[in-house]
Amino acid sequence: METILTAYSVNPVCCNGCGACAAMAPELFAMDEATEKPVLLLAEAPVDDVERAMAFCPHDCIEAD
Ligand code: SF4
Repeated sequence: METILTAYSVNPVCCNGCGACAAMAPELFAMDEATEKPVLLLAEAPVDDVERAMAFCPHDCIEAD
């Protein structure tokens, strides 16, 4: 089965830096200790992985493009 990739992003205004995305999807996100916001580790990621991360964000800050 072909893996479908999507770009993804984090809305920095709504993100409170809880770290759930980096904890649950460390292949997609890492926490920036200086800004206390997640940074994206990939330009594109499998849709299933992005949707899983979106489900864990308590404030719905993760967006798929
Ligand atoms: S899970 Fe959502 S609110 Fe928490 S750090 Fe990640 S993007 Fe921000």
